[in-house]
Amino acid sequence: MNTDQFRQFGKAAVDYIADYFDSIKNRPVFHSVHPGYLQELIPAEPPRRGDLWKDVLQDVDRVIMPGITHWHSPNFHAYFSAANSFPAIVGEMMGAGFTSIGINWMASPAYTELEVAMMNWLGKLLHLPEHFLNCSDGPGGGVIQAYKTYFQGSASETTLLCLLAAKEKKVRDLKALNPDLNDTEIKTKLVAYSSDQSNSSVERAGLLGSVPMRLIPADEDGKFPANKLLEAMRKDRAQGLIPCYVVACLGTTPTCAFDDLTELGPICNQENVWLHVDAAYAGAAFSCPEYRYLMEGVEYADSFNFSPHKWMLVNFDCSAMWVRNARFLTDAFQVDRIYLKSKQLTSIPEYRHWRIPLGGKFRALKLWFVLRIYGVEGIQNYIRHQVALAKYFEQLVVDDSRFELCCSNMGLVCFQLRGDNELTEILFEKIIENRNIFVLSGYFNGKYVIRFSICSQLTERCDIDNAWQEIVSQAKFVLRHHGGLR
Ligand SMILES: *Cc1c(COP(=O)(O)O)cnc(C)c1O
Repeated sequence: MNTDQFRQFGKAAVDYIADYFDSIKNRPVFHSVHPGYLQELIPAEPPRRGDLWKDVLQDVDRVIMPGITHWHSPNFHAYFSAANSFPAIVGEMMGAGFTSIGINWMASPAYTELEVAMMNWLGKLLHLPEHFLNCSDGPGGGVIQAYKTYFQGSASETTLLCLLAAKEKKVRDLKALNPDLNDTEIKTKLVAYSSDQSNSSVERAGLLGSVPMRLIPADEDGKFPANKLLEAMRKDRAQGLIPCYVVACLGTTPTCAFDDLTELGPICNQENVWLHVDAAYAGAAFSCPEYRYLMEGVEYADSFNFSPHKWMLVNFDCSAMWVRNARFLTDAFQVDRIYLKSKQLTSIPEYRHWRIPLGGKFRALKLWFVLRIYGVEGIQNYIRHQVALAKYFEQLVVDDSRFELCCSNMGLVCFQLRGDNELTEILFEKIIENRNIFVLSGYFNGKYVIRFSICSQLTERCDIDNAWQEIVSQAKFVLRHHGGLR
């Protein structure tokens, strides 16, 4: 394909995406396909002679669209929001256009330099403590992680990476005190802790990193109870085990609860245990001063992570991580080869020592586009608008005596039909069967709840009204036919 054809193909593709967004509201939020559907639509072999781009683009409608779940539909209220915006799409496209591989500074200086600058911008946007920033005097700094690039499912590269760094740090610390100890002996005794409300990727990090992850039952507000953490650590120490890593969460996946860092932090610091803070979704809200009290105590953390690809308009994947002391990453993971040597850098990090993959994508570019084109105020307005929509939905629940509000935080509202759990289970199934809106269910303090999340940036009050109407009309049916359960 030559550049003239690329111009046509590329412009047609941009038009396609723009048309997609213009029509997304009218598309059913759910796909309507069966497993294996696509195998029937395309040949079993690749074409012998190349196809025309126009034919290929047409097949996107026929083959791909039926199997897309429309995450950016205003009727999508499942999981958490998956960020997307036009500046980010263009940034992603241009990054693909340049495709250099950021294996070190020299391999494309702009990759590393823009990432350093963007991590400073982001850190300042969230008002993270100075010691986390690349621009501070100390050994702290930030890096963009890929999350999921290398691990399927909901694993998080950051949680795993910090666990591995914490492990190495603990081995070094203990050997400094007692040089006779050997690595294997120490490593088999290490333990990590989180709450049972933490993301599945936290438990998975324990499995991947071969450190038992104790999932401490959360309190009735869904928070990690500090006294239970201390108790568990003492119990483990009494058995000769060695606490080494704690994951606290700001904005848990089930209910968006916020762990109290002012309680957990001092315990971790006293016990010399690495504290990682997972704020994957809710971290974006710290761009607004009114939510920053929720990260009070973050100065105790050894590492902090949030994902602009969730709630900050940068499309997948782009996850930001800061560490108090980058030496703990670079000491743990540094491997060099002659072909990787680059000029001795002073103020600029070699990010390949900070992450698992050697090469890095130009993720900073889309971040730069988003931060420049929205600006701090644009991001703040976006977050506030989404929270206001959740509050509006919350009020609809509260005002209807058939329903009970179970919890509401940021863009997430959990509620149930009053009465037996089974009523809400049937309601949930009816809603999903009917396919007009997409929600999830879960448990909160033993109650079966419907989990309603504000996801799409296209969602407006009228969409919330429609969603509520759908829920109420299904609820009426459920109460009429199953009300005896009450
Ligand atoms: C979504 C989420 C994750 C996983 O993030 P991905 O970016 O999807 O890998 C981890 N922790 C929390 C609290 C989350 O909400």
